[in-house]
Amino acid sequence: MPLNVIIIGAGFAGLWAARELSGAAVDVTVIDRNNYHTFLPLLYQIGAAEIEPEQIAYPVRSILRKRKCIRFVRSEVHGIDIDANCVKITGGTISYDYLIIAAGSVTNYFGIPGAEEFAFPLKTLDDGIILRNHILSCFETAVHEKDIYARRKLLTFSIIGGGPTGVEFAGALSELIRGALRRDYHALDFSEVRVLLLDAGSKLLPSFPEVLGDYTKRRLTAMGIEVMLNSQAQGIERSGIRLKSGAAIPSATVVWTAGVRGAAMLHDERIAKTDAGRIIVTDTLQVPGHPRVYVAGDLAVIDGNPLPMTAPVALQEGATAARNILRDIAGLSPAQLVYRDRGAMVTIGRNSAVAIIRRWKFKGFVAWAMWLVVHLMNLIGFRNRILVMINWAWNYFFFDRAVRLILPACCDNPCERPCVPASGKCREVQV
Ligand SMILES: Cc1cc2nc3c(=O)[nH]c(=O)nc-3n(C[C@H](O)[C@H](O)[C@H](O)COP(=O)(O)OP(=O)(O)OC[C@H]3O[C@@H](n4cnc5c(N)ncnc54)[C@H](O)[C@@H]3O)c2cc1C
Repeated sequence: MPLNVIIIGAGFAGLWAARELSGAAVDVTVIDRNNYHTFLPLLYQIGAAEIEPEQIAYPVRSILRKRKCIRFVRSEVHGIDIDANCVKITGGTISYDYLIIAAGSVTNYFGIPGAEEFAFPLKTLDDGIILRNHILSCFETAVHEKDIYARRKLLTFSIIGGGPTGVEFAGALSELIRGALRRDYHALDFSEVRVLLLDAGSKLLPSFPEVLGDYTKRRLTAMGIEVMLNSQAQGIERSGIRLKSGAAIPSATVVWTAGVRGAAMLHDERIAKTDAGRIIVTDTLQVPGHPRVYVAGDLAVIDGNPLPMTAPVALQEGATAARNILRDIAGLSPAQLVYRDRGAMVTIGRNSAVAIIRRWKFKGFVAWAMWLVVHLMNLIGFRNRILVMINWAWNYFFFDRAVRLILPACCDNPCERPCVPASGKCREVQV
């Protein structure tokens, strides 16, 4: 009987692990709550109505179609019994010989009161759709709103977190507003529309060289975005943001991009985790004391060598974990992860981005062109690449956004808190 490998998560780490195991003499089961893989680097473009949700998602079964030894199970994982070697899923358990936990991360609200309740996260495809609906609904409501205070609140969009996601979303939202929406809502006075980008720290993109963070701030400011550094949120309320300084920002839309934490997966107290819930593993990606259990991607943190929570790290870790399982089966000792840093890039808006590749820094049009090529090439699915390229070209040449439908119907009013499409509930707008 071939040995049985379970992979939890069909994200970057999980899929790259599965790919590495295909063709080997093992039975592989990939488990994910969704039947699709999400290309998270373009998620902010869903929230900013730039591309369609299905253009950044790809069915897991299609990805694995040609890999006959790999089975896909769509289910929620509720826990792992590390002593009994089994994974608890909805309606049962599946046992394993080897396990790769690649369940990624979830939004970290850092215990800020009201953040989970009233802010919009940007972490899953659902989050992106909900945010897009909400933003478009704010404009629909504002156009009829006579009260100037209420209207300004509807038209104030606050993004908390000056990291890559916050920067990219702020830029894309500003372009949506100053382009397509300005033409759609002639009755509105667009001087009332504000896009704010807040961060508790003193610079944007802290993981990038300072010169690129400064350039990003200048570009965003030139795009009409109010960059508010050293502005720590103390609480999020129905009416907006309360800052530590005591100031209040009335805002119907608060987007939370300030951080992530490891997905809750191994509840066992014997397993060491960081404060952010990431599982501490050896440099071979094994859980100490459990050599047949591997963790890869955002959820893993290598003891003494924390790597950034990015897609290249996740896919290299996924592949390494899988190779180590094959080495173990072959009687070899596991190899440590050799991480190849491919650099990092962030787009700001039309013709401007920043990138750092090895020791070279890029900004402006060159970085933007590099960003476009890298993201298009890495998107899964040829059809998705073509459709995204067409959307981008349309946006670029016509300053327009094709994707401006408010769907699903439950979100036809701006909610004062995120609504879940599946629940079909959306509270009455209160401004
Ligand atoms: C908005 C955004 C933008 C980003 N932009 C970039 C970028 O530009 N460049 C870059 O390199 N990185 C970027 N990242 C980070 C990058 O996407 C992550 O580092 C990467 O996705 C981590 O891969 P992973 O496989 O660990 O987790 P994920 O890709 O998140 O996959 C985890 C999978 O596990 C599944 N799962 C989780 N819990 C359960 C459960 N209990 N039961 C069943 N299934 C479960 C999820 O459905 C998901 O499919 C971005 C992230 C976000 C959120």
